[in-house]
Amino acid sequence: MAHSVVFYMQDDLGTSEASASAGARGLDPADWSGLRALGHRIIDDLFDGFEGLADAPVWRQLPAGLRAGLRAPLDDRGVGAEASYAELRDTVMPYASANNHPGFMGWVQGGGTAVGMLAELIAAGLNPNCGGRDHAGIELERQVIGWSARMLGLPETAGGVLTSGSSIANFIGVLAARTAALGPGVRAAGIAGAPLVAYAGTCAHGCVPRALDMAGLGTDALRAIPAAPGAGMDVAALRAAIEADRAAGRLPFLVVATAGSVDTGGFDDLGAIAAICAEFRLWLHVDAAFGAFAALSPALAPLLAGIERADSVAFDFHKLGQVPYDAGCVVVRDGARLSATFAQSAAYLGRESRGLAANSPWPCDLGPELSRGFRALKVWMTIKSYGAARLGAVTEAACAVARALGARIAAEPALELLAPVAFNIVCFAPRGMAGAAVRELVADVQESGVAAPSTTIIDGRTAIRAAIVNHRTTAADTDRMVDAVLARIGK
Ligand SMILES: *Cc1c(COP(=O)(O)O)cnc(C)c1O
Repeated sequence: MAHSVVFYMQDDLGTSEASASAGARGLDPADWSGLRALGHRIIDDLFDGFEGLADAPVWRQLPAGLRAGLRAPLDDRGVGAEASYAELRDTVMPYASANNHPGFMGWVQGGGTAVGMLAELIAAGLNPNCGGRDHAGIELERQVIGWSARMLGLPETAGGVLTSGSSIANFIGVLAARTAALGPGVRAAGIAGAPLVAYAGTCAHGCVPRALDMAGLGTDALRAIPAAPGAGMDVAALRAAIEADRAAGRLPFLVVATAGSVDTGGFDDLGAIAAICAEFRLWLHVDAAFGAFAALSPALAPLLAGIERADSVAFDFHKLGQVPYDAGCVVVRDGARLSATFAQSAAYLGRESRGLAANSPWPCDLGPELSRGFRALKVWMTIKSYGAARLGAVTEAACAVARALGARIAAEPALELLAPVAFNIVCFAPRGMAGAAVRELVADVQESGVAAPSTTIIDGRTAIRAAIVNHRTTAADTDRMVDAVLARIGK
């Protein structure tokens, strides 16, 4: 039975409200029972999806016919929630995601949780705009930022905002460093030819040069410091580069250290880099996109030693933190640096000491976005539900699976490791196989639905890359992936 959502076209709520059925306003139905029942069914379908996850293929390509249907223009007339959901359930939901599956190990992506899903539902239901003002959503975000600062060993003065991911969090870090280097006048005058230069390891994520690009400094302002696969940047080379730039009259201002490189999971020596930053008075920003969660594991925390000296840190909740997409975070040691970088005054955003316009500074003072969803809720509910120790154990387990996978590959004569297993990522290849063949092999394994690794290039060689991020992935899943690889090379 198709449920029809009733729409009332109201040009004047005050008068037409009385004539409409009781309770009907705007886009809301007159009678909630149908939509409520649909909501319960959707929740059941989603829970069925979680329960049956391991039995489903890791990835199914969207069939051509369905893809074509999704490329058709939308009709102006609504079909109602029931019919839209029916279409989603059949044509989108089976093909919408791979990263929830335990066999997904292709890219650094978290697996999400049903708790996070419920949190998203609550967030959308409440629908606050977390750009600012005086409501509980702002406090929840502040609590999450405070928790994050403590996790990283940053002081009480720290401030931060939730972002869509580490790309934007790194960008915010770069902008804060720029403002700190040139003073707040840079916001009006621009960098005006100031010869700013920044440093990052060759293993740095692509969003780091892009951040320099977006900040108007240009990617040429980023010096790539050598870093061996699975290891951190060469600290002596960093020092030499800074000294050379200084001698040439340029303005070194920022080091972007990596805690968990996207290719191999390598960590920079944050303590040594912090010492150099202190000596040369440079801003230390750490891209700890997924490495940050090592802080929650006593066994892994030493990898982050020195992060407590950072001026700013970017990381993601949607990777090892398992919060559903999207949820990143930037925390700045001195929160005032963020307001100095972003706060504005606008008549329509006036602040008051009471009423809804109180409770300043607002998140919109600490980053580039004004309207912001309630990301904090799913982060808060994940941390609150599972607790820091459990999230640390998830990170430890991911690293243990990666180590076991590394040991298996080392023991397979047909395979070789292309980088040491530094954290949760394993890069390997069939011995002697050319890059094009490795890429075909990986696409075959993905299409088989058995596992989803990806590829990268390590020292010029194409590698199969397995990043263990999903909390559901076990050694049985990585064994299936290796078996699938071996079967395709006839071993
Ligand atoms: C994932 C990742 C990023 C980018 O983060 P997004 O959340 O995808 O924007 C940056 N740096 C590293 C090391 C990463 O792993």
